[in-house]
Amino acid sequence: MGEFELIDRYFRRTAASPQVALGVGDDCALLQPTPGRQLAVSTDLLLEGRHFFPGADPRALGHKALAVNLSDLAACGARPLAFTLALALPAVDETWLAGLSQGLLALADASGCALVGGDTTRGPLAIGITVFGEVEPGKALLRSGARAGDDLYVSGSLGDARLALEALQGRIELPPGLLASARQRLDTPQPRLALGQALAGVATAAIDVSDGLLGDLGHVLKQSNVGATVDTLAALPLLDNLQAARAAGVDESLLLQCVLAGGDDYELAFTALPSHRDAVATAAKATNTRVTRIGSIDSQPGVRLLGAGGQPVHGRFASFDHFA
Ligand code: ADP
Ligand code: MG
Repeated sequence: MGEFELIDRYFRRTAASPQVALGVGDDCALLQPTPGRQLAVSTDLLLEGRHFFPGADPRALGHKALAVNLSDLAACGARPLAFTLALALPAVDETWLAGLSQGLLALADASGCALVGGDTTRGPLAIGITVFGEVEPGKALLRSGARAGDDLYVSGSLGDARLALEALQGRIELPPGLLASARQRLDTPQPRLALGQALAGVATAAIDVSDGLLGDLGHVLKQSNVGATVDTLAALPLLDNLQAARAAGVDESLLLQCVLAGGDDYELAFTALPSHRDAVATAAKATNTRVTRIGSIDSQPGVRLLGAGGQPVHGRFASFDHFA
């Protein structure tokens, strides 16, 4: 199968969205954002062997490649419009392409984000996606907006993806049921798009947790010129499989590491004024998303971790850095 037949078969769709004036097939796609809105743009590149295991299930991979990009739109409070797909393939494997296309386009349809173009070439397996979203001017959630006194929250759960990775890479052993449950979080993250949009105008700052809570929170703190205190007793239960992992003998320090520095969570960490607690609760309820207050922002730089009785917790919680 040639390049153009491949594109036609797996990636060409008639775009349903009124914001897409022209999709796949011409030299450019044409987007028509809602008048007066700002475009939000983000790119993520996934490489075999670095971001996913060789031989990874193509459906899950298609889902995840788009999910990690949508997660960036969510963290800005933007509504998805469209995306482009740059694909390098070692060879044409139709079963694999059908799986990738299904996983990718199912999430695209579910989130109202149309595939409008891309590039396809032979090479070591790599998937690069650029997403376009829109947001009201002045409403985008930035990393730089946190202020001393703000509450600190996270959405959903944290650490299960890392727990699965620890087992898949042979560092711990987990019973099959527990591994399957944790692995769902690693393979098919759910971007918090609805929550992100509901928080636009409510939260003061936000980031999506892709490299680990403390590392990603660190970006917010640095760009906002503030510090934070995190209550580890509030954060630890965010691990969905906490009780099962304890029962399987996973030690407490690894569990805390998974939650605080796990990576691949794709939840939102965000800050808001204490006077906006009701508004945060309303956004969480309206979008059917769990939100947990895990600490607060203060003016002293760095992060202080508190344990039982407000005692400081010490430890190194390195987050993910490709060049460290
Ligand atoms: P050009 O040479 O002008 O860059 P291409 O021949 O690479 O165009 O691509 C033809 C059309 O197919 C373009 O509209 C392009 O956006 C689209 N396309 C190419 N690869 C993909 C892909 N992987 N997914 C979606 N659209 C693609
Ligand atoms: Mg091209």
